Amino acid sequence: MSGLKTAIIRTGLETLYFSGANVVMRPFVRGVGVILTLHHVRPPRPDRFQPNRLLEVTPGFLESVARYLRRRRLDLISLDEMHRRLAEGDCGRRFVCVTIDDGYRDTLQWAYPILKKHEIPFAVYIPTSFPDRLGELWWLALEAVVARNMRISLLIDGEERGFECRTLAEKRHLFEELYGWVRSFTTEDQLRNVVRDLCGRYQVDIAAFCEELCMGWDELARLAADPLVTIGAHTVNHVMLAKVTERSARSEMEMSRAVIEAALGTRPAHLSYPVGDRTSAGPREFRIAAELGFKTAVTTRPGVLFREHREHLTGLPRISLNGEHQQLRYVRVLLSGTATAVWNGFQRVDAA
Ligand SMILES: [Zn+2]
Repeated sequence: MSGLKTAIIRTGLETLYFSGANVVMRPFVRGVGVILTLHHVRPPRPDRFQPNRLLEVTPGFLESVARYLRRRRLDLISLDEMHRRLAEGDCGRRFVCVTIDDGYRDTLQWAYPILKKHEIPFAVYIPTSFPDRLGELWWLALEAVVARNMRISLLIDGEERGFECRTLAEKRHLFEELYGWVRSFTTEDQLRNVVRDLCGRYQVDIAAFCEELCMGWDELARLAADPLVTIGAHTVNHVMLAKVTERSARSEMEMSRAVIEAALGTRPAHLSYPVGDRTSAGPREFRIAAELGFKTAVTTRPGVLFREHREHLTGLPRISLNGEHQQLRYVRVLLSGTATAVWNGFQRVDAA
């Protein structure tokens, strides 16, 4: 995320907090509950070039969020219970569900002990190619290519182009450009081909990230054995489903559920769309997930839950605990629903 965008978000959150607007608006915008999103939970790294830092929070921050959630008059519930409440309209008490995407090893090492200590149920969404050690964590590969080189060249529209990435500022700028470029492709294949090409040119072993960072099936089995934990599906190859054919999208969802069931003995009833923004999951994916019988499916579209989401259980919004904004007062504003209400133009459901 660009520094400017980060600054604007932070200013908005600060304004909502210090103006007291979040308190005034709360009754109208807070909805019935919130699904929180996490990715990595781990101690901070010293590297100055960390373009994916928004995807990680520290164990200390998670601990303070967990304590805060426990102090509030909120129900901390599982996805099954959330589904029941939304489906039955049993929305008398406000709730929070905690979800963690991708199945990183730090979920087991850092997040699990904290959530367990506070008895907070949580879900972990698994792209099955990660524990199968075949996954491509392409955003980390892109980071590694830029971090480890002073200059890179690549083919853009059939033309060889070179970029300097010597200084921290150049690295940040180039990563942002490359990230924006690959995300603008209309197909997932185009993105993967560019990243594979870069990995080949600059000796980045893309498969190694799985082994190093993601839980294997034995580790997942340990987590899954705890009744506090729900294992959800997150496709096989972590693809932006809206950028593949309907047939592939359906098979990605269906196969990940089947593989998890075969490996862990429980059939996932909940799904998370990889990347999850509107370029990655839309009405077609919401329909397919419903047709496949998933009870719920979550996006990364920002928002709290309203009773109206009962009609859109496979296109639910979430609120991300963003590594760039690790302040409890931001969490308070986000949980109040005011920030996302402003971002969404006070529209409660965004399922289009
Ligand atoms: Zn993911």
